[in-house]
Amino acid sequence: MMNDPLKVKNQKLKTPNSPATLRSAGRAELPAFAETLRAGRRTPNFQLRMVAWELIRSCNLACVHCRASSERGPYPGELTTKECFRVMDEIATIAQPVIILTGGEPLLRADIFELAEYGTKKGFRMVMATNGTLITEENVKAMKASGIQRISISLDGPDAETHDAFRRVKGAFERSLRGIEIAKKYDLPFQINTTITRANLHLIEKILRLSIDLGAVAHHIFLLVPTGRGKELQDQEISALDYEKTLHWFYEQNDQVDLQLKATCAPHYYRILRQQAKKEGKKITPQTHGLDAMTRGCLGGISFCFISHVGQVQPCGYLELDCGNVRVKPFPEIWEESRIFQDLRNYDGYGGKCGRCEFRKVCGGCRARAYEISGDYMAEEPYCIYEPA
Ligand code: SF4
Ligand code: SF4
Repeated sequence: MMNDPLKVKNQKLKTPNSPATLRSAGRAELPAFAETLRAGRRTPNFQLRMVAWELIRSCNLACVHCRASSERGPYPGELTTKECFRVMDEIATIAQPVIILTGGEPLLRADIFELAEYGTKKGFRMVMATNGTLITEENVKAMKASGIQRISISLDGPDAETHDAFRRVKGAFERSLRGIEIAKKYDLPFQINTTITRANLHLIEKILRLSIDLGAVAHHIFLLVPTGRGKELQDQEISALDYEKTLHWFYEQNDQVDLQLKATCAPHYYRILRQQAKKEGKKITPQTHGLDAMTRGCLGGISFCFISHVGQVQPCGYLELDCGNVRVKPFPEIWEESRIFQDLRNYDGYGGKCGRCEFRKVCGGCRARAYEISGDYMAEEPYCIYEPA
């Protein structure tokens, strides 16, 4: 389980890594600067375990809920192959995370397999998040050869009508299913990702059944975070009560299906997990609850971060806060020293009911939703019905 963060909030402006100091540190001065920082590293307990890397912003689809509002592009300023290699070298000095190659559509990036292979050689677990429509026999072979261990494919409806409406491209559903068949043919494990909104809430059970029938190794549900194009969908966000019911239903499915289930970016699932387990007299251990016993709700800045197509490091793709740019600062310094990451690691600093909640260490609330609603990423999660004692 996560260790308690150091209580740093009141010290942060006095340290050598205040935002102003960091901004003024040019790359040429970094070796000496890095030494200064190393002497004062404050949160050694927050081990990086996963990075989502938006290697390209362009996409061949135009999904209604897209975080990045991706279009066909091209988008200027994307990190070059060489820059990506350097960033991976830097990451390897502090961690061996899972790297999610994402976009936009990562298969549109010409050097994608070169990057995957480089990461594999560094010892990272390389996986890819794709919309599935561009998968061919040729690129599945290249995925396998470059060491990609799993792909995730998004399905937001159990049939062409509902899925294509989300994706805003006719034929997207059929093409994704064809991509899945090719992945299966070459024994490339795949998981299904589903973003839940009011439009498909009633279809979630069917999508889960379809994932099982297709042979997916996992089904991950994402609760819509209204940023990017999803902002226009604010009225599509399910209510806090439906949110609660959906997560309870998801908890119950755990005992009934064989594939791995994960509620992603639905932090209070980890509160519900504990509440339900307590009612059932169960202890939460890796033996009884698998990975759920070892993780927490919001991982942004805790064990996970996002790198944008232009190198901006963020807590996650939905929380577009500039924690530092890999073109300006070495990645380890951003991960260990960013003021925003320091804040997110200070669970006692959360506002409102999240700050008083006994589940704040295992849940944390969605910081992106808090930010969208209030402008304060430390504010309380707006879509939780729980009232702490
Ligand atoms: S802030 Fe946390 S829970 Fe919310 S979208 Fe980002 S990683 Fe997920
Ligand atoms: S109040 Fe906040 S920390 Fe507590 S369960 Fe709800 S979202 Fe999580």
